Amino acid sequence: MTAAQALSSRFDQITVLDRDNLPEEARPRRGVPQGNHPHVLLAAGQNALAQLFPGIHEQLVEAGAIPFEPGLDLCFHRFGGIWPRVDTGMRLVSMSRPLLETTLCERVSKQPNVSIRDGVAISALTGGREGVTGVRLDDGETLAADLVVDATGRGSRSDRWLANLDFPVPDTAEIKIGVGYATRVFQADPGRLPFGVGLFVLPAPPAEKRAGLILPIEGDRWLVAVGGWHDAFPKSEAEFTSFARELPHPAVADVLDNGKPLSDFTSYGFPSSRRRYFERLRQVPGGYVATGDAVCSFNPIYGQGMTCAALDAIALGESLDKHGDATEAMARDFYQRVSKILATPWRFAAGGDFAFPETTGPKPRGSDWLNGYSRRVQLASKVDPEVRRIFTAVQHLVMPPTVLFKPSVVRRVLRGSKS
Ligand SMILES: Cc1cc2nc3c(=O)[nH]c(=O)nc-3n(C[C@H](O)[C@H](O)[C@H](O)COP(=O)(O)OP(=O)(O)OC[C@H]3O[C@@H](n4cnc5c(N)ncnc54)[C@H](O)[C@@H]3O)c2cc1C
Repeated sequence: MTAAQALSSRFDQITVLDRDNLPEEARPRRGVPQGNHPHVLLAAGQNALAQLFPGIHEQLVEAGAIPFEPGLDLCFHRFGGIWPRVDTGMRLVSMSRPLLETTLCERVSKQPNVSIRDGVAISALTGGREGVTGVRLDDGETLAADLVVDATGRGSRSDRWLANLDFPVPDTAEIKIGVGYATRVFQADPGRLPFGVGLFVLPAPPAEKRAGLILPIEGDRWLVAVGGWHDAFPKSEAEFTSFARELPHPAVADVLDNGKPLSDFTSYGFPSSRRRYFERLRQVPGGYVATGDAVCSFNPIYGQGMTCAALDAIALGESLDKHGDATEAMARDFYQRVSKILATPWRFAAGGDFAFPETTGPKPRGSDWLNGYSRRVQLASKVDPEVRRIFTAVQHLVMPPTVLFKPSVVRRVLRGSKS
């Protein structure tokens, strides 16, 4: 939807194709099974959405999303305690993933030059050595296009599709993390939470692997989730509460025990973070780009995927503006921009997960040292509101990680992490 929005001012006609029948009301759907689980929109993602869809923040709040300030309203528990409350200056919104999706879909469908065809699956790219000229659908129909944007998510068949046209396929990095989530919707009951709005309980690696999360969503509801790394997540409803009881903060187990459930238990296994290095290809076809999870699918616990998809959409518009047409040069330019967008989030997710010795795969250089420093930053965040404010902004991708290495910040980190 973000890519379609970015293209709507740059092409005469945009057709969005989706295998699913897209629901008008906000409810999870088959093609996006992660929609049952909590989705945090980072500040950088919210800014990107606001650039693409002016007024989206207000529109989401109107539709029921809950405005919140991450440093004041979310109780954050890590490394043995609750972090200090601090005004980060960020005004975010929390909602279900389906509400965000249907709101964006509604906005996109109002563009006079965008049509949405749902219930149709793409089975191949058409074209040849000269580039991509369109797509073939499951029923054999072909559609011609000046540009095909592959936003088919983590399961994208781009490797097969490109190979069929005799183009090389990108190298893939796969980092095995064995992450899983279990989620249930509850009626909101703010009295059960320290700061009333939401809660994150995160583990101190490598000894702890479990996480708990309570996120407010529209309709006076909470998404209550527990999960963890390397198989440390509940596989059945029976394990849900016993697992939550072992978290270092009691709120999640309390809600599971005493709250009012509004849905069934659902779980989701996420075996690996996966990145496809399109930017390293020596030959890319004109007329085609991959975006979002089709390029990089992160460990979801870091909450970065939707933000990167929205940033990719802005980059797509910029590449088109620079090159005029969807040529090979434009595709290369786009993948370079995507590579820059992914550099920090990939370092957080892929590098950060190597704090667990069970993690396997290509380890980003310097990860051990960075994980050691990140641990100190987080210990300092527990006692120093200024470090917390900066760290939160870095996590939300609105400050570059280099600010954590400014001498004045390093001093605070060293002092705070000793106490
Ligand atoms: C459990 C979990 C929790 C997450 N939490 C967060 C979070 O807190 N914050 C965050 O930012 N991200 C989170 N993510 C990641 C986020 O869901 C993805 O990064 C994001 O959805 C990627 O968007 P996308 O458009 O690239 O792919 P998707 O959202 O996966 O969409 C792909 C679309 O392509 C369609 N499709 C697939 N194949 C075809 C085909 N052949 N033909 C036609 N249509 C097709 C599907 O129906 C679907 O609509 C989480 C992921 C998981 C698994």
